[in-house]
Amino acid sequence: MRLLILCFLIYLGYWVFKKWALPGQSSTTPPEDVALTPVDDVMVKDPFCQTYLPKKQGIKSVINEKTHYFCSTTCRDKYLETIKDSKH
Ligand SMILES: [Zn+2]
Repeated sequence: MRLLILCFLIYLGYWVFKKWALPGQSSTTPPEDVALTPVDDVMVKDPFCQTYLPKKQGIKSVINEKTHYFCSTTCRDKYLETIKDSKH
């Protein structure tokens, strides 16, 4: 019985060695599909001046765990001010 286990271990060792020594013969995963390109030309609304603008051109800013896009930093700053004022 011990001999059988030994034989099995030798076989297992040989199998692992073969797998390690010859990579690419099996268990090779194909490269990930890189065709997944995100859509950039989504229109977003500036919450301060109510202007629609392309997402990639907007100034992204996370306010109260919500993502907003602004047409300019001036709008962002003014919007932040109005939020600050409304909290009082
Ligand atoms: Zn604006």
